Amino acid sequence: MADFVTRFAPSPTGYLHLGHACSAFHVWEAAKAANGRVLLRIEDIDQTRCRPEYEAAILEDLAWLGLSWNGPVRRQSDHFSEYEATLKNLQHRGLVYRCFRTRREIAAAMPAGAVADEWGFTGRPLSALEEESRLARGHAFAWRLSLAAAQDALGPRYPQLSYIDESDGTARRVAADPRPFGDVVLGRKETPASYHLACCHDDALQGVTHVIRGEDIREMTAVHALLQALMDWPQPVYRFHPLVLGPDGKKLSKRAGDRGLRAWRDEGKTPDDLRRMTGIP
Ligand code: GLU
Repeated sequence: MADFVTRFAPSPTGYLHLGHACSAFHVWEAAKAANGRVLLRIEDIDQTRCRPEYEAAILEDLAWLGLSWNGPVRRQSDHFSEYEATLKNLQHRGLVYRCFRTRREIAAAMPAGAVADEWGFTGRPLSALEEESRLARGHAFAWRLSLAAAQDALGPRYPQLSYIDESDGTARRVAADPRPFGDVVLGRKETPASYHLACCHDDALQGVTHVIRGEDIREMTAVHALLQALMDWPQPVYRFHPLVLGPDGKKLSKRAGDRGLRAWRDEGKTPDDLRRMTGIP
């Protein structure tokens, strides 16, 4: 059987909850079925929200669930220079630009009825003179991937962006349309990386052949297909699993204070109980 490499890539912004356990079970089951490997990656580039104690808790919770990974853990905050090199590459090719707009300015520029804060925002680079003056005044900025420049760079490959979706057991090539996301942020003045950039960079670097992730990231995978095409990175196969919903029918989230796995553990639940609760057979 061909090499099968997948990964579990949590962000240490809180304790793992049932949604993470669900993802983890899917990831490890898939690797087991394919006699493959699971890598563990700590996605902690947002240093304002990530904390070392949550990282330690992730390792502990996975051990409690009986899930062990292959090879060393990759912690993204140890690799900023690698993401910076990717950003520089895109910068030299005119694919990213500095966007100085504040959140409020972006919100005001968004069309009425936009789905999320910034989804779909497209801007354009300032003139060299104006940019220089903003930089001299120390203004904050985001590096945005220009959809227009990407389209030019990829030419006929742009409308054919796609990826393989294997969610239902058969491999289907599906079209990937990054336009709803607009010019996504790939880095900021202080941080030369974003989730999209670091995630795709690492999937390529680590030789990930299969990405198993929640349905909530299905749409966003189009942005990843775009980055992979621009960087000539190998593209993994994708599988999206259903989400565990809370009693209100909404996706669980750390921010909403959904209870961590350790709270279930302290209450006497076993890993097998959690497996059942997440709908894993
Ligand atoms: N750090 C992301 C998360 O926890 C990883 C998602 C993914 O790329 O599979 O949602």
